[in-house]
Amino acid sequence: MQLLRNKVVAEGIVLSNKVLKVDSFLNHQMDPVLMKEVGKEFTSRFKDEAITRVLTIESSGIAPGIMTALELNVPLIFARKQKSLTLKHDIYVEKVYSFTKQETNEITVAKKFIDPNDRVLIIDDFLANGEAAFGLARIVEQAGAKVVGIGIVIEKSFQPGRQLLLDAGYRVESLVRVAALENETVTFVEEEDI
Ligand code: 5GP
Repeated sequence: MQLLRNKVVAEGIVLSNKVLKVDSFLNHQMDPVLMKEVGKEFTSRFKDEAITRVLTIESSGIAPGIMTALELNVPLIFARKQKSLTLKHDIYVEKVYSFTKQETNEITVAKKFIDPNDRVLIIDDFLANGEAAFGLARIVEQAGAKVVGIGIVIEKSFQPGRQLLLDAGYRVESLVRVAALENETVTFVEEEDI
């Protein structure tokens, strides 16, 4: 997605060889016009999938998630992150190791918001090792529902998440694919549509 790639080039800050900061349009300040386009792009890629719900994780997945859900005209659910939890019967719980915070969180979704007939599109802001996406997929599967795909705003293709998700049989659509973060420069995967 050219618009998004331009934004990453103009405003992305390479914090290290592994971490890209995009707090001016996605992770702190959010660009609603860009997020609207992100929602349209995910919708056009997944339009034939009869999606009934979009699932993301708080907080940075919410903006791309809600714009996609708006375009698809379905509800958005965001999984909540909690430190630790006494067991409850009305929620699904999965453990997710956070790449940026380097700690394990429990993520939870109320059971009443996913039913076995649902066809769920998972959306997240970044893909690194795939921990968040796998955690969300496990929640959908706990509910007996179907993961129809995983939509990622910025994929770091030099990390293993994409391949792990593909190997597990999931469809992955990333709007921008980053090949490397070296010498404070963002390099993109060549094959990308430009
Ligand atoms: P994963 O779960 O795939 O290992 O990592 C994805 C999650 O970690 C995303 O939800 C995102 O919040 C965070 N993340 C991973 N890499 C980056 C990064 O380079 N920049 C930012 N801002 N967040 C990241």
